[in-house]
Amino acid sequence: MKLIDSHCHLDDFYNNGELEAVLARANGAMVEHLVVIGTSSRDLEINHRLAENFTSIDYTVGVHPLYHGDPIPDFGPYFTASKPPVAIGEIGLDYHSLPPDSRDEVIAAQKKLFVSQLQIAKKCDLPVALHSREAFDDTFALVEESGIDGDRILFHCYGYGTEEMRTINEFGAWVSFSGTITYKNSQALRGALSIVEKDRLLIETDCPYLAPVPYRGKKNEPSFLMHTARFIEEFFTDECGDILGKIFANTVRFFRLKIQ
Ligand SMILES: [Zn+2]
Repeated sequence: MKLIDSHCHLDDFYNNGELEAVLARANGAMVEHLVVIGTSSRDLEINHRLAENFTSIDYTVGVHPLYHGDPIPDFGPYFTASKPPVAIGEIGLDYHSLPPDSRDEVIAAQKKLFVSQLQIAKKCDLPVALHSREAFDDTFALVEESGIDGDRILFHCYGYGTEEMRTINEFGAWVSFSGTITYKNSQALRGALSIVEKDRLLIETDCPYLAPVPYRGKKNEPSFLMHTARFIEEFFTDECGDILGKIFANTVRFFRLKIQ
């Protein structure tokens, strides 16, 4: 078994001096490669430096919808760096905890930020790691309007049901499941997983958040990806084929990673 953590945040481990230990544990748990995801100017340079320093790390650049008050940093120098980003992300819409007194303004600001970054992705011909929470219809509408091909779009940390999965399948986009798939109350997610296009399925930790069972509630890290991987392997146990091998190859294909 070999795994790729398709969505993780390592800046916290880096800042606490825990990075080497975390990467060693990941390696010991079959996680051969990691895609570190940008959220804002706060982690932009750290992520780039991590990718420059470790062959096992690639990175993305983007501003998360929760940082809708931020200007978009100048990604230009990164695109021409010796190790350029492999995607734009995480970008999208998050309507989970909108402030009641400025709901419309925040939605408008998130949409503006999202659309600008979709345009960057299109212009640079980079895939997109989407963050979409309680905002499926608006997310999907803006992605469609952008004209970006479904093949270049990844719904990270999938949190919707079967109906949305059907829409995604039809559009030809990719889907990544996190440790939330292992949670007892995630029946709707498992319903969606059962109809996922297996050629477009990825897995991730989204660490330091959302640790899978049996570490739920603890600080998540890439080595825990194995528990999500095992869960998915068992979930598809009746179907023949090497699902984890497929997921590994899918991840390489989506991000166009230069690894075997
Ligand atoms: Zn994330």
